[in-house]
Amino acid sequence: MRLPVLVLAALVVAPWAGSAADAQATTRRKVYISVDLEGIAGVVANSQTSPAGANYDWARKQMMAETNAAIEGAFAGGATEVLVNDSHGPQTNLRPDEIDRRATLITGQPKPLGMTQGLDSTFDAAVYIGYHAPGSTADAVHGHTFSGALKVVRLNGKEVGEYGLNAMVAGYWGVPVVFIAGDRAAVEMASDFIPGVDGLVVKEGIGYYAAKTMHPVEAREKIAAGVRAALVKRIARPPVKLGPSITLEVELDALAHADQVALVPGMKRNGRTVSYTSSDPLTIYKVARVIMALSRD
Ligand SMILES: [Zn+2]
Repeated sequence: MRLPVLVLAALVVAPWAGSAADAQATTRRKVYISVDLEGIAGVVANSQTSPAGANYDWARKQMMAETNAAIEGAFAGGATEVLVNDSHGPQTNLRPDEIDRRATLITGQPKPLGMTQGLDSTFDAAVYIGYHAPGSTADAVHGHTFSGALKVVRLNGKEVGEYGLNAMVAGYWGVPVVFIAGDRAAVEMASDFIPGVDGLVVKEGIGYYAAKTMHPVEAREKIAAGVRAALVKRIARPPVKLGPSITLEVELDALAHADQVALVPGMKRNGRTVSYTSSDPLTIYKVARVIMALSRD
């Protein structure tokens, strides 16, 4: 079916909504970048993702380089401000002095809103780098959601990974997620959940600890070009909206963890599965983090 021209015009929206892509350089255009480690090109092993690991320094260097590539792409695409949130493990992986100095960095933990800390309604677009799939996915490098204890996470019945929980919070602030880089499983699942998101597959998972990877330098070039293209592209990218009621359902790995999570007021529990319902995406996000915190041995 051909849409009338007027309707098409209404659908054509750049991330720089309100200011239009050709607005003056004085207009503030803010881009938020959340960076994880498991979905960075070339990273597959525990020795790379754990700070105690022998190859961690190498991996964090790659994370730094992909972050700087995304920052470069954001400014090339018209951003005037970029906020980067270190979103892996100790959340001190990115060295503050090695990040592109045009960007601002959020580092350390705990942060009330974790991987989405610092995002608010003043931002125009969100970008996810180094992302991975959830724990139930086959051929997904280091698939998990927050921790190994959260085996399956669903939002209103649909399975999601960290990308989904984070996109829900971005949607709460009215911010579209425009670009995601990670392994194939992460990019494919995110594309199914986040309307109009551009994806870059930097490696193909062969299992939990193996992948066929793009050369890291190639990945950086494609990230810079991809973020830029996603920001200047004039297509409709509605923020993720769930609700009015949102139900978070989590299948845990152990009954003992469900015992602890069930202590949270308002939490429902059925065997190893717990669930919580709220109309507020930020509450749902924090509850997911509480479930993680209470599922440690
Ligand atoms: Zn992660």
